[in-house]
Amino acid sequence: MDELVALCKRRGFIFQSNEIYGGLQGLYDYGPLGVELKNNLKNSWWKATVYNRDDVEGLDTSILTHPDVLKYSGHQETFTDPLVDCKSCGLRFRQDQIPDQCKGEELTDPREFNLMFETNVGPVINESSTAYLRPETAQQIYINFKNVVDSTSRSLPFGIAQIGKSFRNEITPRNFIFRVREFEQMELEFFVLPGDDDEWHKKWVDNRVEWWIKQGIPKEKLQLLNVTGEDLAHYSKATIDIMYQFPHGLEELEGIANRTDFDLGSHTKNQKDLNISASVMKNSDSNTRLAIQNEKNEWIVPYVIEPSAGVDRGVLAVLNEAFTLERLDDSKHRVVLKLEKHLSPIKAATIPLKRNNDNLVQLAHKIKSSLQKYQIGRVVVENTGNIGKSYRKHDEIGTPLCITIDFDSLDKNTVTIRDRDSMNQDIIPLDNVEKYFLDYYSDAK
Ligand code: ATP
Repeated sequence: MDELVALCKRRGFIFQSNEIYGGLQGLYDYGPLGVELKNNLKNSWWKATVYNRDDVEGLDTSILTHPDVLKYSGHQETFTDPLVDCKSCGLRFRQDQIPDQCKGEELTDPREFNLMFETNVGPVINESSTAYLRPETAQQIYINFKNVVDSTSRSLPFGIAQIGKSFRNEITPRNFIFRVREFEQMELEFFVLPGDDDEWHKKWVDNRVEWWIKQGIPKEKLQLLNVTGEDLAHYSKATIDIMYQFPHGLEELEGIANRTDFDLGSHTKNQKDLNISASVMKNSDSNTRLAIQNEKNEWIVPYVIEPSAGVDRGVLAVLNEAFTLERLDDSKHRVVLKLEKHLSPIKAATIPLKRNNDNLVQLAHKIKSSLQKYQIGRVVVENTGNIGKSYRKHDEIGTPLCITIDFDSLDKNTVTIRDRDSMNQDIIPLDNVEKYFLDYYSDAK
């Protein structure tokens, strides 16, 4: 983990947030390469979840959330962690995350701490101006259920997907970007007919495991955990967590829950006419029926299957898998980030052999533009003037292709393309560079 954190800072993937003023705990900023990697991961999820299917719509909702949403969802009451104080050092911990040095010390009795960030909307600060930063993206999907159904004429089964920020005032944020206070989620709420839920739950677990494998996580590093007993959320009929062997241990990467009709049932009006199976709080505030009509024109509250993945935990997992220290023939080492090509922050670097030679530099810019126009991702001109250093840098940041422009490029119209993983170098005609690049990325996931 330490090596990974150091690389992330040195190369501009991830920085401690607010660092020049001492930092704010549990927050991180994504740098020039981090933002590309993160966007690539999110795009891959969006393509797999929305574009490549015919049964999912997208959504992007507000972060500030009406208190009633979080009242009826149960968050105001139950979105808490048990907190204890160490009487020796005075620090506070989540009851299940007490560090070793405080384990033998006297601790206070646990008390419940609500993880939501509260704020006020508008110029008057009083009880009726209270709002929350959403603790998950899901709730606003349920709230928009009727809007989406009415505007798209969807029938069951279908899903609504959203990627966005969520906020949790974690008692003990830790392990780099694994547990933070501001993070992003990729959530799908997939609405099905009651009775079809078990089958869809299984399908989504399989689907999500496949997707993680495509992001470069080997199957053997993933484990499915059937959540039971106290750990099972009150709304859930069944939850399978996809666990990944993070540098600090086996932990949750994504959860896939069968939330039954709890959510729509909690937020709908006319609850008593709708035959809701989940135990929901009586709702006297909602002005909308969150249900759908079947062929017999009966109103049904759909069940929901929810695959909910953390973007930041995903970034940490793919970085951890990609990070490779490779021994070279001459007993030297190289660090190489073997990211899947669709995730690489830089798709290709064009490198003029001499930084001061205008002809080489101009040609490098020309090739860069000719590749950039396909918008497969970012292409850069790497003009540091030291070819060895340039290769080392692009190995470390996971650039799959380095295109070197040398004097043969001017005399014989050829360039050298170096492959990150094999380090093989192909000399190809200048005219073939675009095709080579397009062929290379044609099977990107
Ligand atoms: P944990 O038990 O680790 O606190 P959770 O069960 O509360 O996680 P969910 O509410 O199921 O998490 O959220 C879905 C996903 O959102 C998680 O699988 C995780 O990837 C991500 N996530 C949740 N909390 C955080 C956090 N504090 N920092 C980063 N990602 C998070």
